[in-house]
Amino acid sequence: MNSVFIYSSKFDTYSLGDSHPFKPYKVSMVYELCYRYGLFDHPWITIKEPLPATEEVLEEYHSREYLDALKGANSGSFDFTMINYGLGTSDNPVFKGVFDFSLLVAGATTMAAELLVSGEADTIFSPVGGLHHGGYAHAEGFCYINDIVIAIQRLLRKGHSRILYVDIDAHHGNGVQDAFYHTNKVLVLSLHQNGESLYPGTGFVDEMGEGKGYGYTVNLPLPEYTDDESYVRAFMAVYPSLVKAYQPQCVVAQIGLDTLKKDPLTNLRLTNNGYAQVLKEIRKSSSKLIALGGGGYSVPDVVRGWTLAWAIMNSIEPEDPYQGMVGSALYSHDRGGAENLYDPVHAISPVLRKDVDAYIDSNITSIREKIFPVLGID
Ligand SMILES: [Zn+2]
Repeated sequence: MNSVFIYSSKFDTYSLGDSHPFKPYKVSMVYELCYRYGLFDHPWITIKEPLPATEEVLEEYHSREYLDALKGANSGSFDFTMINYGLGTSDNPVFKGVFDFSLLVAGATTMAAELLVSGEADTIFSPVGGLHHGGYAHAEGFCYINDIVIAIQRLLRKGHSRILYVDIDAHHGNGVQDAFYHTNKVLVLSLHQNGESLYPGTGFVDEMGEGKGYGYTVNLPLPEYTDDESYVRAFMAVYPSLVKAYQPQCVVAQIGLDTLKKDPLTNLRLTNNGYAQVLKEIRKSSSKLIALGGGGYSVPDVVRGWTLAWAIMNSIEPEDPYQGMVGSALYSHDRGGAENLYDPVHAISPVLRKDVDAYIDSNITSIREKIFPVLGID
């Protein structure tokens, strides 16, 4: 195994605003916690710092007009024409360095793609990436660009022809779905809180691709209150079969952690125990894996969860560096709750589970009836 963790302390220098939930600095916290847990101390692991991408890289997917507007926003001052591109909203505020930040995120994710293509690495994590809502000519959902689409298009151009994109962020990966809706060279799977109850209001089970892409977009929407047990069951009902049938050359995963019950923006009820189980399955599904961070707004929990994710990607069982420390209860506050990477277990009531599972089961049935036959799954 050759693993690369992509990190730059420059991510910290950008801010969408004090009250904005998207905090680029969480990436530095993940880096630090991984460091404290010794999760870089293995001979197969390296840390690489990305350079900003060139504008041409953004043009590989985005329209020139949009990029001009985004570039115009880089000074931090807003003008009304920007609204046409989704810029200057409360979700996507204009902030100083917004274009520079976008170039750096794109630089990190394209670095991941290039490392995979060259064979220099087979397992890559860029926690700052995963901006799955970014549109061809507009910003939305905290995403100013779509680094995922740019990276997958590169993988396709450089010889990969069956890429499995799996998106476990709480929100539907609409931007990525749109880009690959008409191709069978990318199989897009998104599990997310349903569009009736959460932005972006898409990702229903009957959105399943068109033309050559028919059957190659798979949406598994989940109801509010879905917890670990129901989530893992839903994932396992679909993912292993898709992997077996599609035989992906590589997996690109958006591992957003806004599915947690503590997340302030969503209504799922996961802990990182369920998240970890799903990540282990993703890890098993391909020797070539690019993982991108995505959403997650309960920052300390996301930091622990992504640290755990890095351990799982590298098949390391993290050891608690504070174990046995005298007076550990006293110290636990100072450690920001990082004494154990795993969350306490949580489960919903049996009455609630009945409703949650009924909803999930009807979607699983739908996928099995409509999509599995297209992909040759019995
Ligand atoms: Zn999200």
